[in-house]
Amino acid sequence: MTELSSKIINCIENAIGFKNNSNKIPLHEPSFKETNSWDYVKNCIDSGWVSNTGEWVNKFEEQICAFTGSSYAIAVSNGTVGLRLALHTLGVKNDDEVLMPPLTFVATANAVSHLGAIPHFIDIEKNSLGLSPISLEERLNDIAIRKNGFTYNKKTGRRIAALIAVHVFGNPADLTSILKITRNWGIPVLEDAAEALGSWNKFPNKNNAHCGLLGDVGVISFNGNKLITTGGGGVLITHNQKIAELSKHLSTTAKLAHDWEFDHDHIGWNDRLPNINAALGLAQIEVLDRRLEMKRKLLKRYEVALQDIENLTLIRPTQNSLSNNWLISISLNFEKLEELKKERNELLFNAIKRNLMLRPIWKPLHKLLIYQDTPRGSLKCAENFEYRIINLPSSPQLIE
Ligand SMILES: *Cc1c(COP(=O)(O)O)cnc(C)c1O
Repeated sequence: MTELSSKIINCIENAIGFKNNSNKIPLHEPSFKETNSWDYVKNCIDSGWVSNTGEWVNKFEEQICAFTGSSYAIAVSNGTVGLRLALHTLGVKNDDEVLMPPLTFVATANAVSHLGAIPHFIDIEKNSLGLSPISLEERLNDIAIRKNGFTYNKKTGRRIAALIAVHVFGNPADLTSILKITRNWGIPVLEDAAEALGSWNKFPNKNNAHCGLLGDVGVISFNGNKLITTGGGGVLITHNQKIAELSKHLSTTAKLAHDWEFDHDHIGWNDRLPNINAALGLAQIEVLDRRLEMKRKLLKRYEVALQDIENLTLIRPTQNSLSNNWLISISLNFEKLEELKKERNELLFNAIKRNLMLRPIWKPLHKLLIYQDTPRGSLKCAENFEYRIINLPSSPQLIE
């Protein structure tokens, strides 16, 4: 074990109060303790309302609106279909390009591909790890042209139909700067807020805005490892009534309301979140504030424990944002790639041996075979972070 990796592992164990535990310490574990989950799920089962209609799914949507300040919420069966549905309502079609960062979970790009469109990768910035407004502006100036009310990629001839900003590990991306550029070019914006329930953009003279609500539409995921989970699930949030109505309609097979006729006016999807899943979500929304508080405490513990380690930085939210601290992460600051890779692999290897689950950041998507031929600008910053970032065990209940 290198000196650094043993030091880091010791400090992590001190922060969470487990030493060489006999059970695995996971990255982010669901918890239903001190919630009404069992009662709500039992209510679904007793009443028979377990599928895509029922009161819990409507209540869940109401509570998402109340918590985030969104005007509308449309619950769906997972975050990936939510992204696909949101892109569709923004007008993304076959053979369009969609701008997005390469440092994200593969679902962000897959949702684009599911519509026959093509991801076009733009670099990230080092502060938020989100899409870089500077790289975006440079790239658009370089390759984009306005024609017939749309923006096109001069090099490929394809329309640039939308942009997806991603709030990586719950840290808000710089939407304010991104939107200044996309508005100039008339490009709609989807926020992949899959990891960002409870993350906010701060403004000096107006109310904070929940992640997902500055762009045209945002999508939150409730997968098993997210801050709250419905088993599988997701939700679109938006202030845009048209997007809300269209996505609700399309997510429920585009059926026209009628007591007995089966009339469908679009080719819709069966995307709606089942009532029984929503029951689980509602039970956790009720304890969400407490969970966010526990996350802040956990971040503090890591801050204290790791502060004196050289060549390591704890990733923190930027000045203008409040993060939910979904996955607390460190960056290893070695300059030489060989040294960096060696330290990283040592750390991951030794952590696993101590039953401590650490995880490196995703492989940048343009390096996956499935996306190797996609259009892109320079991705220097994203590539620079590929081997640096490591997620630490971040379950809120670790502070107990
Ligand atoms: C989890 C996640 C998704 C996908 O959500 P699912 O509910 O798992 O389909 C999309 N994007 C990001 C950034 C995610 O972390």
